[in-house]
Amino acid sequence: MITHGHEDHIGALVHIWPKLKTNIYATPFTGALIREKFKERRINIDDYLKIIPLNGNIDLEIIKITLVSLTHSILEPNALLIEYDKKNIFHTGDWKCDLHPIMGDNINETKLKTIGDKGVLAMICDSTNIFTEGRSGSEKDVNESMLRIFEQQKKRIIVTTFASNAARMLTVFKCAARVGRHVSLVGRSMHRIFNTAKLCGYFSDIDTPIDPRDVKKISRDKIVYLCTGSQGEPKGAMNRICNQDHPDVDITSDDTVIFSSRIIPGNEKKLYSMHNILVRRGINVISEENAFIHVSGHPGREEMHEMYDWIRPQISVPVHGEHRHLKEHYNFAKEKKIKQPVLIENGDVLKIFPGKAEIINKVNSGKLLVDGNKLIDEESTSLRDRKNISFNGLMDISLIVSKDGNIDRSPLINLRGLPINDHELNEIKYEIEDKIFDVCKSFSLNNKKQESSLLDNLKKSLRKIIQFRLSKKPFTNINIIRL
Ligand SMILES: [Zn+2]
Repeated sequence: MITHGHEDHIGALVHIWPKLKTNIYATPFTGALIREKFKERRINIDDYLKIIPLNGNIDLEIIKITLVSLTHSILEPNALLIEYDKKNIFHTGDWKCDLHPIMGDNINETKLKTIGDKGVLAMICDSTNIFTEGRSGSEKDVNESMLRIFEQQKKRIIVTTFASNAARMLTVFKCAARVGRHVSLVGRSMHRIFNTAKLCGYFSDIDTPIDPRDVKKISRDKIVYLCTGSQGEPKGAMNRICNQDHPDVDITSDDTVIFSSRIIPGNEKKLYSMHNILVRRGINVISEENAFIHVSGHPGREEMHEMYDWIRPQISVPVHGEHRHLKEHYNFAKEKKIKQPVLIENGDVLKIFPGKAEIINKVNSGKLLVDGNKLIDEESTSLRDRKNISFNGLMDISLIVSKDGNIDRSPLINLRGLPINDHELNEIKYEIEDKIFDVCKSFSLNNKKQESSLLDNLKKSLRKIIQFRLSKKPFTNINIIRL
């Protein structure tokens, strides 16, 4: 069951599903995004993808799930009411309580209270913004602020945001229309989300976006570009525009770039370097640092209070967030007088019934990484070798051994990624070559039984040379080729 279509909820599906081959349940918009992803991998998922209407039900015989629409920074976010053996478990998914969402319905407070009245054994709840006092804010407020900013601009406006935030996209369309501008979408995922949302019946009352290739015909004060790459992603449209490398979009001084997104920790360097390039070119940069231009999709403490007061669970299970968020949420639940707040980590198996809620087992968990067309373990040798080579450089040596057990011609020595200048290179190669002959003298090269000891000896002695000269320990590979 997929609660919503954010990348951290659906991105891994295409990689994991072939191992599971099981049904996937999702609401129409999320389902359409999932189908698209499978199509890209040439997998027909239609027989397994079960589309559930908003606020619909899923009957899995022993478990019944009822979807409850909430609000978040994407269309169709769902909480799950899971009924099992007459017990109710409420999973919030990612949520906030937007009092004026631009798209989708308001949170149905009465419905949530009714769920609480029926009795909820456990609530599994988002912890992302547990450190934020007050509310996360509404998309409507962003809309108003964005309009004021648009009204002040005299040249081109470029807005960059997460493509998945359709409400923000709608805000840009609405504000543009109010100030008499057209919108042009730039970047693949911007088009993908726009088309998918349209296909699902959203965006029915907005102007058709202009193809970026046709924008040249429109005067600078009549256009708004809406671009991908709000986190400084190297392949995102914004980065290419910033580096004057985009085939269809060029911006010049006095144009305005609006970063309508949060700076995700870890992306500061990339983003600030982009801001610097733009500012140096005389372009106005507006971001959450100097304007109200973004609201989070996760609940602040005030919204958390509301949810706990509506659902009133016996057990609280904080999820989604780092350990410090989970602990803070756990403390929050204690303050809310929840009977049994629990703190779990990835892999923990939590028993919630019968008896006291407790961790009863630990299963394997961790990350699988996509490497080329394979899923690999974080600890895989291929990744370890690659990190090793990238950090330490590579020494690759081939020895050719003749039939009579002698080294035939000079060994092939290949040194890569090591800080060696030209005149040193030959010197080091000669030294390595001398050492190889030296080491080989004490071995019978034709005797296969001695081979592993010979390789060990060579490895040690040759690495010593590089370590002594360069203070590096390169990844070393030695091949013996017998004629
Ligand atoms: Zn989300």
